[in-house]
Amino acid sequence: MISDVNYEELKEFALRNGMSLFGVAKFDPAEARSMLSEREGNDLPFAISMGVRLSRAVLDGIDDHPTLLYQWHYRQANYLLDRVAFQLSLLIQEKGARAVPIPASQIVDWENQRAHLSHKHVARLAGHGWIGRNNLLVNPRFGAQVRYVTVLTDLPLRTDEPVEGDCGDCRACVEACPAGALGETPEDYDFHRCFEKLKEFAREHRIGHYICGVCVRACPGRT
Ligand code: SF4
Ligand code: SF4
Repeated sequence: MISDVNYEELKEFALRNGMSLFGVAKFDPAEARSMLSEREGNDLPFAISMGVRLSRAVLDGIDDHPTLLYQWHYRQANYLLDRVAFQLSLLIQEKGARAVPIPASQIVDWENQRAHLSHKHVARLAGHGWIGRNNLLVNPRFGAQVRYVTVLTDLPLRTDEPVEGDCGDCRACVEACPAGALGETPEDYDFHRCFEKLKEFAREHRIGHYICGVCVRACPGRT
């Protein structure tokens, strides 16, 4: 089927260009927390989700606050995701279909720290993992140590299904969080406590971005 052929071609391209994970979901704007207009891609039927694994060694340098090394690494991961999403969109366009690469890390609602859509929720629908106690996507292999990007398209594609999984007895991120912002379930995540801590980090550690990395470091997955 043409949807299988397209899927395999795009997946091969993504993995060859540095991506660690590739999957496709039916695009559901509500589930993806989309803030896009129809003209910007909200009417497109498929969401391609790609993830790049972060460096375990860089994350291991984090104790209870982000490091300058992690800040650089985080930015480079976003650049790589954006570049591959851009290239993939050109490839799709050459096939006569529409493609919208969604920025990996661009805030459009500063108060609520929301982007054009939630890459995390798209990634869950595309089968990359489950939402963990740290309120991040937990991949069975790489844990929360992955960053994601999304490309919306109307190119016919086979779709993946969400995977079953949960955190089990692990509470490593809950114990590590310096803000006390995590609890028993993802719904217990306290956005305001977390965000206040990120603002403090940005001021006091010359980070310049609202990042942390502590609950990412605590969640390495199997490999
Ligand atoms: S990002 Fe940092 S402050 Fe926020 S929940 Fe994770 S560990 Fe806690
Ligand atoms: S560190 Fe453990 S409890 Fe936290 S999200 Fe990862 S697997 Fe779940």
